[in-house]
Amino acid sequence: MSSKSKNRRENEWQSAWLNTDNCNCPDKESHSKDLHKICSICKGIMHKDVRINLNSNLLHHFAWNKDNSKPKANGGTNRKDNLVAMHPWCNQEKIQFSFWKINIIL
Ligand SMILES: [Zn+2]
Ligand SMILES: [Zn+2]
Repeated sequence: MSSKSKNRRENEWQSAWLNTDNCNCPDKESHSKDLHKICSICKGIMHKDVRINLNSNLLHHFAWNKDNSKPKANGGTNRKDNLVAMHPWCNQEKIQFSFWKINIIL
């Protein structure tokens, strides 16, 4: 991968994080460092450092991944303003994560 496309992908992660709603939990220190956001689907907390790829097997309550806010199937684009952060298991389009949801509910 060229460093240019690597930078573009890094920008996409940053944009997804920025486009996502801020957290309201009592941990003010984490908020001052922009470490918490709220999952765009379930409104649960995500931690900035637990960013994972979709092929990761990491199981963590605060894990997050980026996805299109408006699905491409509904006319959404790959533009930065269409990216948001969400839990991997909340991502309806990524059904391979449904087993995580089961683990967490149990
Ligand atoms: Zn918080
Ligand atoms: Zn969620």
